[in-house]
Amino acid sequence: MTFWFWKSANAGGEPVNCSGLIGAEAFERYDLPRRSVLRGFDRARFISPGGYEAIVAASRTVAYVVDRGDFDRSLAEQAEQAGAAYRLGTRCVAIRPGEDGVEVSVRAAGGYTREGGPRDGARTDGGRGDGRKAPADETLKARAVVLGTGVRYGLLKAKGWSRPGAFFNTAQAEVAMRGVEEVEVYLGREVSPGSFAWAIPLGADRVKLGVCNHGRALGYMERLLSHPRVAGRLANGRPDIKTKPIPISPAARTYFERTLLVGDVAGQVKPTTAGGIYYGIVCADAAARALDGAFKRGELGERALRTYERLWRKEIGRELLVGRYFRWLGGALSDRQIDRLIRAYREPEFRDLVRRTADFERHSRFILALLASPIFWAGLLDLIRSSLKLQLPSPDPL
Ligand SMILES: Cc1cc2nc3c(=O)[nH]c(=O)nc-3n(C[C@H](O)[C@H](O)[C@H](O)COP(=O)(O)OP(=O)(O)OC[C@H]3O[C@@H](n4cnc5c(N)ncnc54)[C@H](O)[C@@H]3O)c2cc1C
Repeated sequence: MTFWFWKSANAGGEPVNCSGLIGAEAFERYDLPRRSVLRGFDRARFISPGGYEAIVAASRTVAYVVDRGDFDRSLAEQAEQAGAAYRLGTRCVAIRPGEDGVEVSVRAAGGYTREGGPRDGARTDGGRGDGRKAPADETLKARAVVLGTGVRYGLLKAKGWSRPGAFFNTAQAEVAMRGVEEVEVYLGREVSPGSFAWAIPLGADRVKLGVCNHGRALGYMERLLSHPRVAGRLANGRPDIKTKPIPISPAARTYFERTLLVGDVAGQVKPTTAGGIYYGIVCADAAARALDGAFKRGELGERALRTYERLWRKEIGRELLVGRYFRWLGGALSDRQIDRLIRAYREPEFRDLVRRTADFERHSRFILALLASPIFWAGLLDLIRSSLKLQLPSPDPL
């Protein structure tokens, strides 16, 4: 059996708009390419709108930043060594699942090899001799298809399948910035209302700087660039800012006749931080296990592939649910409430709660512990009380 990958990009590992931060758990659990790791982190610095800071530190490396292009290229090499075949520069334009297989229509823009050059004998201009690349459709037959098209939902739309229900807008640039020693997280309405902005050091003063929220990401990115903690450390020159949406809720269904959805196309992304690399890998693993069983039984219909949804939801379903509610609650915090929470991190009980429950890839334990703790509510209640007091008319003098 051959596993084919069709990728619309030319040379596996095209510039990818992603920060490339992955929890250590991913490297401990899977054979991921360590050569792509740029550096590891054991701490992050949270900066509140009022300028208060909390450094959350662990006793070991909890996350790594990778060169995402190289990471994807290395994974592709591993897959090829295991027998998979790649067709790059080839877009899948339609899928037609049926009783005895899936018809897959692909369109090759010249037919590129993974190195980016044209395949032997590939026609790039449709024989017209004008040098313009001609689309060439080809229909292939597969036993099953896994859609991992990221945030491109055309194939889902054509089938009438629903896409993830909620998205963040993001803007990001790689910049030259001094003095970023650990991951920095900026909170508050000015830079990223209801969400956050980040600076991730890659080494040698190169930093991924970005924002994600429900608003106009480009506008917030401009504000981040002039943020007092950022502007003074930036080298001159206008950065090349890229924008892209990230899904933050899963698609209603991720299995269909002979077809599975994996990764961003299925909305398998942490709603708290919008990180999708590890969850995508976990779900790809679930898809492989579900398909393996289905191939062995010779059953690839909708009912048989339901196992996939059960497997991945068992792994990350609770994380997605709790994360979504926390995002909603945390997103409603005012700047003063965020200031208060960041200041509360000085308290030993709060540090202890973080030490006991925080995990880079799984946030539900921390979220539930925080919501059950007076630390979270004390700050909120005080502020609600004080703002109510401000609203009340002063009592009449006796
Ligand atoms: C600014 C930004 C920063 C991020 N930072 C992080 C981070 O630090 N950590 C983290 O975990 N996550 C991060 N993410 C999220 C992460 O990038 C995604 O969750 C992850 O890349 C999803 O992987 P995927 O394989 O589902 O989709 P993608 O990585 O988008 O890959 C989809 C592939 O499918 C191809 N394709 C699409 N349509 C077709 C078609 N019709 N035919 C053939 N090929 C097709 C595309 O060319 C692409 O190569 C970030 C996202 C953004 C936007």
